[in-house]
Amino acid sequence: MKNNSPITIKNSNPLNIKKMTIDDFNFAGKKAIVRVDFNVPLDENGHVTDDTRIRGALPTLKKILADGGSLIIMSHMGKPKGKVNPKFSLSQIKDDVAKALGADVKFAPDCANAAEAAASLKPGEVLLLENLRFYPEEEGKPVGIDKEDPAYEAAKKEMKERQKEFAKTLASYADVYVNDAFGTAHRKHASTAVIADYFDKQDKMLGYLMEKEVKAVDNILSDIKRPFTAIMGGSKVSTKIGIIENLMDKVDNLILCGGMTYTFAKAMGGNVGLSLCELDKLDLALDIMKKAKDKGVNLVLGTDCVAADKFANDANTQICSVMNIPDGWEGMDAGPETRKAFANVIKDAKTILWNGPAGVFEFDNFTAGSRAIADAIVEATNNGAFSLVGGGDSVACVNKFGLADQVSYVSTGGGALLEAIEGKILPGIAAIKG
Ligand code: AMP
Repeated sequence: MKNNSPITIKNSNPLNIKKMTIDDFNFAGKKAIVRVDFNVPLDENGHVTDDTRIRGALPTLKKILADGGSLIIMSHMGKPKGKVNPKFSLSQIKDDVAKALGADVKFAPDCANAAEAAASLKPGEVLLLENLRFYPEEEGKPVGIDKEDPAYEAAKKEMKERQKEFAKTLASYADVYVNDAFGTAHRKHASTAVIADYFDKQDKMLGYLMEKEVKAVDNILSDIKRPFTAIMGGSKVSTKIGIIENLMDKVDNLILCGGMTYTFAKAMGGNVGLSLCELDKLDLALDIMKKAKDKGVNLVLGTDCVAADKFANDANTQICSVMNIPDGWEGMDAGPETRKAFANVIKDAKTILWNGPAGVFEFDNFTAGSRAIADAIVEATNNGAFSLVGGGDSVACVNKFGLADQVSYVSTGGGALLEAIEGKILPGIAAIKG
């Protein structure tokens, strides 16, 4: 840990990661504090339902232990909003982490009071800290005060100071800091960025997962083999607009699917029944269509859908045009004609980015659209395409279909992946660059 001045970020290129990774570092005798993204889904009994994120961090964690270092693992889970909440306790995943690592894992029930536990760690030992977000200092946003409140700015400033103290405490546990949490690299939180201020340049690094993620983004941005097809799905157009607009300058084909289909259909004068529809985004939808035309991008929208009479797996269904969904029914998945059209475009692609499902894939009866996309991506990948699948739900999709190892790269990042592809600086990476 170092005591002096804050970092300055000189170079804003988030993708130049040479000399920032752990390969050449020998952790022997060192205590390493590693920020991972163990925000894994749990079932109602607190059991991990998808351990992709735990497995993703293993190469970094194992390298540190194999070198003879000791490990302090820190992560967030869920959105406890700065309060202790057993529902989001990382103690629930301690055994899964131990099993995956093949090592005993000690648990520190208060991440900001773990100095003793950290100090007593011997080489090869592992300490997992409790959820960082049990402290509001982790995210650094003032709690319980409205943005409109005149006192908000002062509260924000105070919280930023508290955030620095919190980060300094975490830093005090270790000799070196490793960030391997790509999923939160787009956030300037205590453990993802601020903490790096308290380490010398040679003692802060990016883990293997981070390195792989950044290289995959680089592949998409700098080595585009055409045609480049992006598939954006999920629930709303409003949350994806930044990336959609950015992709418009890069892709040959842009498939928009999932819930946003119905905002487009409504904008074109369709009846969408009870489908998810952002009425305040109709102009935006028309604007996207116009931009695609102006830029020569082949915009592919769903034409038919599987409509349901309720939002449930056992709903009654019918296939109908997205422009003519009966009252009381809602579009829940891509229809057969749409699936065929999507697959035809995807199969010929040489670079593919997929973020967001084509339907409510959590219900088994509404997976066909996402399945058709996943199958076509696998086919294209077998024919030499580079395929990047990212975002929690798309990853859950390829896992559900057992196809994760048949695409080129499955990213653990949702927002971070999209922001990196948008060309934004990721604070988690900038902080390491120093
Ligand atoms: P996002 O977080 O925006 O990527 O959205 C993912 C969510 O979109 C998943 O939980 C899907 O169930 C949901 N989704 C996809 N298609 C639809 C649809 N047609 N209607 C409602 N939700 C949808």
